[in-house]
Amino acid sequence: MDMSDATRMPQTLRGPLRESEPMAKHVSWRAGGAARLFFQPVDVADLRDFLAQVPARMPILFLGLGSNLLVRDGGFPGAVVLTHRAFGDRPLVLSAGTSGLSPVDYGFACTAGAGVPAPHVARFVAKHGGGGAEWLAGVPGTVGGALAMNAGCYGGETWNHVTEVETIDRAGDLHRRAPGEYETGYRHVRLRSNAEEWFVSARLAFPRGDSGASMARIRELLARRVATQPLNLPNAGSVFRNPEGDHAARLIESCGLKGFTIGGAQVSPKHANFIVNVGGATAADIETLVDHVQATVEGRTGIALIREVRIVGEARHG
Ligand SMILES: Cc1cc2nc3c(=O)[nH]c(=O)nc-3n(C[C@H](O)[C@H](O)[C@H](O)COP(=O)(O)OP(=O)(O)OC[C@H]3O[C@@H](n4cnc5c(N)ncnc54)[C@H](O)[C@@H]3O)c2cc1C
Repeated sequence: MDMSDATRMPQTLRGPLRESEPMAKHVSWRAGGAARLFFQPVDVADLRDFLAQVPARMPILFLGLGSNLLVRDGGFPGAVVLTHRAFGDRPLVLSAGTSGLSPVDYGFACTAGAGVPAPHVARFVAKHGGGGAEWLAGVPGTVGGALAMNAGCYGGETWNHVTEVETIDRAGDLHRRAPGEYETGYRHVRLRSNAEEWFVSARLAFPRGDSGASMARIRELLARRVATQPLNLPNAGSVFRNPEGDHAARLIESCGLKGFTIGGAQVSPKHANFIVNVGGATAADIETLVDHVQATVEGRTGIALIREVRIVGEARHG
């Protein structure tokens, strides 16, 4: 495969297909290399058409809003499928049935396509009388990304609300899967069969709530984020998971790393578990800083922080 990857794709594809797409445009760190092939399917049929043409050994990466992802400067040597503003046939709608979770505790259900932004789900649930989804308003990713990461905050966690997911495999076959088919934990999700599949949609259940109270809670949680997180600079949220019983930010700060800078990447002076792009950061600047923080914290405290952000692709050579 070489420069002609895209031209070999069938003319029947309806969504935009591009080669050497700069991923800095698509990840919240605004840094990093290009994807060899990049496709934004109009709907699931379009995605199946695309998957049927991707060479068997070419790696595939699903991308939502890129709020937890970095592609190294040498690029991703495969096909990136963008779900955000894709899957027009998988919208966010009210759904019947909360089977899988207690109908007493979960009286509200909706179905959301993988490309739907999580904050839309928070507002949709609140508006339609559900409760307990307010925390999703502050997770700046998609439903697919939230499922892949088991995103959570302020006591909420994505997989506590999943009653069913729809996935697609490399052959383009769709599957309906129950939560029990996955091993889930703190920022951890694994399909027990280890099959290579990606999320297309999910059915989510919530308790009944009060619209006015939920909208107020959303405003309160967002204000708390603005006060504590460096949202004015490109970042990817928390870089490291919190170790059991402690906070990564506290450990990083205790090592005097707030404000530590490599190239255009800086440990945020506002929140030590955030790395911000202060201008012109390369993926290598960010990754080197991530490694430096990890090594310093382990050296001084003995605690090995585990990275939450995903880093993929190849380093730039030479
Ligand atoms: C300011 C800020 C605040 C944040 N706060 C929080 C927080 O409070 N809690 C929290 O948990 N996270 C937080 N995050 C991190 C991030 O928003 C979440 O991890 C989010 O769920 C990622 O969604 P995404 O669509 O951006 O995923 P991406 O970054 O696009 O992808 C992340 C991973 O998910 C995979 N993926 C994406 N879509 C699919 C799919 N359809 N099927 C299979 N795999 C898929 C990707 O391949 C990648 O490995 C924050 C990030 C930022 C920038």
